Amino acid sequence: MIALEGVNKWYGEYHALIDVNAEVKAGQVVVLCGPSGSGKSTLIRTMNRLEEINRGSIRVNGEEVQGRHVDINRVRSHIGFVFQQFNLFPHLSVLENVACGPAWVSKIPREQAHALATDLLAKVGLSQKTGAYPNQLSGGQQQRVAIARALAMKPPVMLFDEPTSALDPEMVGEVLSVMKSLAAEGMTMVCVTHEMKFAREVSDEVWFMDRGTLLEKADPEQFFDRPSHPRAQAFLSDIRH
Ligand code: ADP
Ligand code: MG
Repeated sequence: MIALEGVNKWYGEYHALIDVNAEVKAGQVVVLCGPSGSGKSTLIRTMNRLEEINRGSIRVNGEEVQGRHVDINRVRSHIGFVFQQFNLFPHLSVLENVACGPAWVSKIPREQAHALATDLLAKVGLSQKTGAYPNQLSGGQQQRVAIARALAMKPPVMLFDEPTSALDPEMVGEVLSVMKSLAAEGMTMVCVTHEMKFAREVSDEVWFMDRGTLLEKADPEQFFDRPSHPRAQAFLSDIRH
């Protein structure tokens, strides 16, 4: 579903992604972890071309997202992305926030877009909030709306960049539980997160990045119990303390 081949990126002189090769199969959940500044956001953002790369190739669902002639808006509409900041439209209701993508981008009739949004909001546990505005919701509720909004485009792949890092601790669980049910339904997902319990329970594979390099790819049990790279060992020991 996602294939990264020889991916390299520089920010000016700084080599931010160094020869990244990796694959995500359909239905797999990958957790991408690593120290701050290691390149996790840069890497996940290249997958829908929020960042461009200088060398290599990235295919998502068979399409070269970094190709020179791709219609980037069309590519992005097929890849769900959830950010640390929810970025909802403040002047639109919750229902409109979720319905507007299908209505504007996919041009599906308004009524149909509303029906889809209603279903998705039920799925993330927000049936009671369809008429509310974003500033009337808690952070956890806003992030669940953001997930429903991304799902409204029926993407085959969902990317998450620290979706719970801006939340108060008591709201982390409700967002992780929505992600967990998405995973159980077979959604292909790449998640940058420091939630190691989620990684252990939900992921099929953990990727560990440090200084722009994908140093280790392992199944969660192996990664957490027997990390092979010394920097992965150090990272795990840091977060455990
Ligand atoms: P992470 O998400 O793992 O914390 P990032 O991908 O955000 O790391 O950043 C990786 C490195 O690239 C950092 O050293 C960061 O300072 C640098 N970087 C990120 N974005 C930019 C940018 N737009 N311009 C220059 N350097 C950047
Ligand atoms: Mg980041």
